Amino acid sequence: MLESSLVVPFVILTSLTIYHADVRAFSTSPSPASSSLRSRIVIAGGGPCGLALAHFLVRRGFNITVIESRGDPRGEPLGPRQYSLGLNIRARTTLSGPNNGSVWDAIKDQGVESDRFFVHLGTRIKLNIRQKRSGAPPSLLISRGLLCSALLDTLQKFVADGRLKLMFAKRIDKVDLANRRVILRGSDGEEHSTVPYDFLAGCDGVRSAVRASLVEAWPQHMKEDVEILGGEGRVMHVPWPAALEPSAIHAMASFSAGFGLFIIPGPHNTCCTLVSWSEERPPALANATSPQEVQRIIADAFPQFGKAPLSACEQFLNQERLISGIVRCDSYWDNGEGRVIIMGDAAHSTGGRLGQGANSAFSDAAAFDQAVSQCDGNLRKAAELYSERQTKEGRALLDLLLLPPPGLLNGFMYGLEQLGRGVLSSLALPVDPPLQTLLSQTLVPFSEIRRRNAFWIAKQRPKQKKQRTGLLRTNA
Ligand SMILES: Cc1cc2nc3c(=O)[nH]c(=O)nc-3n(C[C@H](O)[C@H](O)[C@H](O)COP(=O)(O)OP(=O)(O)OC[C@H]3O[C@@H](n4cnc5c(N)ncnc54)[C@H](O)[C@@H]3O)c2cc1C
Repeated sequence: MLESSLVVPFVILTSLTIYHADVRAFSTSPSPASSSLRSRIVIAGGGPCGLALAHFLVRRGFNITVIESRGDPRGEPLGPRQYSLGLNIRARTTLSGPNNGSVWDAIKDQGVESDRFFVHLGTRIKLNIRQKRSGAPPSLLISRGLLCSALLDTLQKFVADGRLKLMFAKRIDKVDLANRRVILRGSDGEEHSTVPYDFLAGCDGVRSAVRASLVEAWPQHMKEDVEILGGEGRVMHVPWPAALEPSAIHAMASFSAGFGLFIIPGPHNTCCTLVSWSEERPPALANATSPQEVQRIIADAFPQFGKAPLSACEQFLNQERLISGIVRCDSYWDNGEGRVIIMGDAAHSTGGRLGQGANSAFSDAAAFDQAVSQCDGNLRKAAELYSERQTKEGRALLDLLLLPPPGLLNGFMYGLEQLGRGVLSSLALPVDPPLQTLLSQTLVPFSEIRRRNAFWIAKQRPKQKKQRTGLLRTNA
């Protein structure tokens, strides 16, 4: 369904408010004992989560090795991996602690702040659907590539004494848990080497090799459900369309053309456009064979978007499919051993829905850092504490994916309630704002937001059970 292909983009980027909370920032609390500092900590995956964790741990004085299967993102040409993300108050709070504001500042310099979100209905009507809460900072829209580049730059600036080792183009094949080493493949897929660890953090995304190794070793403790999402999403980087209001997100769908656009402002008058459609009903665009055809089909469907440059259309044609998926995991550590944890998309991916993936990945990294501090640098205890806290948050976030509830009547009543909340909270009455505002403009923990929505989530239960038995189980 086209509608479902658009649900992702429509809900992804609604970021930002202030509340109380459990979101932790870089802290200045004491560093662990020197025996822990000698531990070899390996971080699998140099995405947003792995690099944020590296920041936290290196600042505590640990020796860190980051292993990333792709190349260094800095200077990489624009491509599908540089899709834009919306970072909200959760990421902002986590990455700008008392002595680390520079990390957030470096990230901020690479993105665009925005607090407007237009949904276009045809070519004439557009609605601004973002409810702005007073005191809430705007969302920061930034490409994943630039986010990782900024995290890498600040990391290398901060660590001058060789405590950080970055290994690019090395894929972790599996983890040898008994001998505490990760087994690598080179980018040619052939070469094998190993890296020993005392402590391993799996930040290697939806198809985590670290999670797969844990599930294989302890199937009774580590249970995972992985669902790779269907639908096509391709990314185009183009100059900002002159007909669209600048510095705002724009979402539009054409039912006759069978695809939708989600246009996110980028730096220097550019934008990142996510073009999406349903797998069941591929549009003519999916079968286009020349850049001219891509350009014509998109411009005919969306005159406001206009003609994309042929170079961008060419890139569109040659693009690999973006793989996103839902990951649900019962535990985020190796149950008792205290040598391995998982976090970010490796532990709980929402497949880009709800716009909280990167935001919650940063919260995981900060939660582990805080656990290290609370456990006086004892990594085993910290792993346990981290898993106990963050599995609740991860599960709650995944439960919120079940909204709106199924059925016409439930869906209507839920929509009405959300609308009512929007109106009443904008009048400063003591009522919760709508769900998306709570998620992206406040620091209310996901578990608390889940609790407040328990009534609606319960309506999804039977369907959820049915869906979960059908989930694809994978060790990929
Ligand atoms: C289209 C789209 C839009 C999104 N929009 C938003 C948004 O607006 N807001 C938001 O917060 N989130 C959003 N998300 C989700 C967000 O991108 C992810 O949640 C976030 O990137 C998770 O970070 P991560 O570091 O845990 O995982 P990843 O970003 O997946 O990074 C994992 C890293 O590990 C590497 N890796 C994988 N396997 C191995 C291996 N075997 N060995 C070594 N390295 C490996 C990968 O190359 C990658 O660099 C969106 C996602 C998509 C697809």
